Amino acid sequence: MPGFGHRLARYRIEAGAGFRLKHHDPADHGGVDPVAGAALLADGVARLSALQTLLYPQHAWALLCVFQGMDAAGKDGAIGHVMSGVNPQGVSVTSFQAPGPEELAHDFLWRVSRALPKRGQIGIFNRSHYEDVLVVRVHPELLERQHLPASLAGKHVWKHRLADIAAWELYLARQGIVLLKFFLHLSKDEQRRRLLARLDDPDKAWKFSAADLAERQYWDGYQRAYEKAIRATAAPHAPWYVVPADHKWFARLVVVEAMIAALEALGLHRPVIHPAQAEELAAARRLLADEDGR
Ligand code: AMP
Ligand code: MG
Repeated sequence: MPGFGHRLARYRIEAGAGFRLKHHDPADHGGVDPVAGAALLADGVARLSALQTLLYPQHAWALLCVFQGMDAAGKDGAIGHVMSGVNPQGVSVTSFQAPGPEELAHDFLWRVSRALPKRGQIGIFNRSHYEDVLVVRVHPELLERQHLPASLAGKHVWKHRLADIAAWELYLARQGIVLLKFFLHLSKDEQRRRLLARLDDPDKAWKFSAADLAERQYWDGYQRAYEKAIRATAAPHAPWYVVPADHKWFARLVVVEAMIAALEALGLHRPVIHPAQAEELAAARRLLADEDGR
């Protein structure tokens, strides 16, 4: 079965100049049909799992995947499906909600820094530091709660934050934390359908929040804030994937293939057994074998 990885490039944004969200169709499915897509996804989940078993023991690189998107864009579902084959001991998932008092008493990168994956681990951020240039930008009254000195909270705050994020992400790259940022790009129509489905399905109703409807009113403001964030922070070492999200199965396929491509690029291999270790193993093998028949 041919993979999907070679078609990833059209969703990968490595340079922000000229980036326009309107050039990306949320309903795109890459010409893949859902049945073939399901098979590719299953294959991808298995390959990701195999790669993670190589990432973990070498204890050097880490992979950090940031998930952003409007309400009902499919962040939780994508995380659940894509990671379903991976050993949970090698993964940490952090969901970022509206900050509490302790978080508000710190700089905005404090809480994400604390949640970074250890070497060898895959870290998943369900929402992230980008909320501080998205929801906070759309609702400037949230900025007032962040206790910034007045002289630093002027109109340049967004430009400064985006530059600080870009600088921090370069630092992460230089620390061996491979960063992928996924924007699950949903259409406003499909959000409406999904919110209605939440209301109609007793298994999904718990996910509905009146706040989702309130935020929907700010749709255009969010799209502008996303566009600016992607423009300011897309880089070869910190790419954005603008993932068409109207088809859940396709969004998941793009995510898993992007993670696979990032891990494959590291050239991971099974840990090398040095001669001294090999002797130790041989000795252990003799001891265990000798137990037999005792
Ligand atoms: P959910 O992802 O449905 O659990 O919702 C989490 C909510 O927390 C969303 O409405 C986010 O916009 C909000 N949130 C996350 N980070 C921040 C932040 N830094 N400031 C304000 N609200 C935030
Ligand atoms: Mg929600």
